[in-house]
Amino acid sequence: MSGLTARRSWWLAVVLLLSACGQKEAQLHDTQLLVMGTLVNVSILDGDEDVAAVATTEVEQRLRQMHRDLHAWQPGPLTRVNEAIASGESAPVDTEKTMLIERGTELSRQSGGLFNPAIGNLIALWGFHSDDGPHGPPPDAAAIRSLLAQAPSMTDLHIDDGRLRSDNPAVQLDFGGFAKGYAIDEAIRILREHHIDNAIVNAGGDLRVIGRHGARPWRIGIRDPRGPGVIASVEVSGDECVFTSGDYERYFEYQGRRYHHIIDPRSGYPAVGSSSVTVLSHEAIVADAAATALFVAGPDTWAQTAKAMGIDQAMLIDDKGNVYMTPAMAKRTHFEVDPPPPIKVVVP
Ligand code: ADP
Ligand code: MG
Repeated sequence: MSGLTARRSWWLAVVLLLSACGQKEAQLHDTQLLVMGTLVNVSILDGDEDVAAVATTEVEQRLRQMHRDLHAWQPGPLTRVNEAIASGESAPVDTEKTMLIERGTELSRQSGGLFNPAIGNLIALWGFHSDDGPHGPPPDAAAIRSLLAQAPSMTDLHIDDGRLRSDNPAVQLDFGGFAKGYAIDEAIRILREHHIDNAIVNAGGDLRVIGRHGARPWRIGIRDPRGPGVIASVEVSGDECVFTSGDYERYFEYQGRRYHHIIDPRSGYPAVGSSSVTVLSHEAIVADAAATALFVAGPDTWAQTAKAMGIDQAMLIDDKGNVYMTPAMAKRTHFEVDPPPPIKVVVP
C-alpha cells in the first residue's frame, strides 16, 4: 500500500507490454484503477462487455473499501485497533480483520517470524508510514533497540467473541506486507462470481491470472532490480500469482546509503543481502507474504524459508546481481538479458 510513483506506472507498462507480446486478440475489457495508492489494472478476456464493466466496478468499490479499512496510518478502523492495543484495551474486530490476523499469524509462524505484520511500530519509526514518501534520516539505534526489546509478535494477539486483545502493547498491526495480495485475491473472487474465467489483475507488477490470454499463456516480465528493464519472464496460465518484493519499491537515501521498506524483524533495520524476490503461488496473499519473508531471509536462507512456507517456485536476486532459483522456477524462467546473470539453482 505504498504511494503511486512514476516508477510503478512505468513498471505496470512493462508488464502489460510483455503480456501483450504475441497476442493478436483485443482485450474485451481493460481498466486501470488508481486505488490503494497504486495503479491496478483489471483485464478481462471473456464474457459480456456489460458483465465485465459491472464486475470491474465491484472490484473497484471493494478495493477502495479495503484501503479505508486496512490502512496502517491514515485514521480508520485499523488505526483504532492499534490505538486500543497500545493502551492495553480490547477492541472489536470484524470478520475480515479476524481472518487477516489469523492468516498473518500463520504466515508469520511459517516464516519463522521473518514475515511479521505486528512490527508496525518499527515501520513507523523508519518513516514508512507517510503519504509523501520516506526521507530519513534513519532512526536512532537506541530507539530501534528499545522496540526490538519489546518483541511484538502475532502470537501476542487473541480474539474472543469478536474482540481482540494483545498481551503486548508494542504490537501494531501493519498489513502492508500482504494486503495487496489479499486485495488481488478478492478482486479475482469477485470476477469469478461474475463467471469471468480469463482475466488478470495486476497491481504495480504484482498480479494474479486466471485462464489464458487468448490462445496463449500470459507472459509476465520480472523487473531487473538494478537495471532499466526486464531481467526475465515467465509464462503463466491457469490460476497463478506472481509477486515481487524489491528494495527499489519504497526507500530513501541518506548519506549515500539506501534504506528500503522491508524491515528485518531480527535486527530492526532494512533487510540486507537481497535486492528482489519473486514468488509464484496459487494464492496472492501467500505469494505476497512469502516474497517479503524470503527477501528478509536473504541469499543464504531463502530456500529454507520458501520450503517452510510451502513455496516451490521462487527467485532471489541478491545485492550483487546473482540469481538464486528453485528448480521449479528455473525450469520456466526465460532470461531476457544477454549474457544471463550468474544463476544458482537451490533445492529448498
Ligand atoms: P510492496 O508492497 O512494495 O510490494 P512488500 O510486499 O514486500 O512490498 O511489503 C512491504 C511492506 O510490508 C512495508 O511497506 C511494510 O508495510 C511491511 N513490512 C515491512 N517489513 C515487513 C516484515 N518483515 N514483515 C511483514 N511486513 C513487513
Ligand atoms: Mg509482500
